[in-house]
Amino acid sequence: MTGYALALHGGAGVIPGRDYTEAELHLRELAERGAVELERGDAALDVVERAVAAMESSGFYVAGKGSTPNAEGHVELDASIMDGPSRRAGAVASLMDIVNPVSVARRVMDATEHVMLAGAGALSFARRERFEEVVSPEDYYVLPVGIVPGDVDMGSHGTVGAVARDVDGRVAAATSTGGTFGKLKGRVGDTPIIGSGTWADDSVAVSCTGVGEYFIRAAAAVSVSNQFKAGRTLEQAVAEVLADVKRLGGDGGIIAVTSAGDIAMAYNSDGMKRAAVSDRQSLDVRSFG
Ligand code: ASP
Repeated sequence: MTGYALALHGGAGVIPGRDYTEAELHLRELAERGAVELERGDAALDVVERAVAAMESSGFYVAGKGSTPNAEGHVELDASIMDGPSRRAGAVASLMDIVNPVSVARRVMDATEHVMLAGAGALSFARRERFEEVVSPEDYYVLPVGIVPGDVDMGSHGTVGAVARDVDGRVAAATSTGGTFGKLKGRVGDTPIIGSGTWADDSVAVSCTGVGEYFIRAAAAVSVSNQFKAGRTLEQAVAEVLADVKRLGGDGGIIAVTSAGDIAMAYNSDGMKRAAVSDRQSLDVRSFG
């Protein structure tokens, strides 16, 4: 079966009334580019990595350049990527001062026998593999490093993610974040945890955003696939998992795509920056509604 599908999110921690035009324009551009790449036959895995890396580098989201500092004023980054057909996966947690954590996660997947590297070990690996480093954190990050909770009212979180289905029917997912503002040093959210923030298998790819602790406890991403395989539609599967997250006390959003090219995007927070496009569906970009 030919045809492609792509969905992106820029985080479910949006604040009503705030203007997200810049991020929406960026999501539009990335979705258009991703559609061209998928249409010409690029692998879903490559497309989701490139889209997430571009979001990390943009500064428009709470991932990479736009990340918020932890309780000690430093930026710690989490990211993961997963290939559906092979179920290979890579992740990094509490990684500091690397421009594109998602690409380090991809390298963990491709070049090691491990799934996740964390903290100092992740940083040495990224350096050894010559990934671009943030030379001057005080100038690079959108929010100055060194600020601590109470200094500013952040009020928002904004992980980024991408899911895609390529023309060969393969699906993949990638997610990246700076985590929640003011998190404890060393706190790891759902984003790098395979099965919680990110999942891809032979039929579904999923990327989550929201208060990570609840998504971990709901095993959110893999649960979407399990629900889908149990006979729910993709929309029902996503809604059921978000309801479970809500029962636990959390909120957020989920994007998912199936190997048949169906897309679902849903949230139970105030909104979610997002974009979706496929060979059957024209590009839709929005943050609310
Ligand atoms: N899920 C992310 C985390 O808990 C935050 C987010 O989605 O904005 O680290």
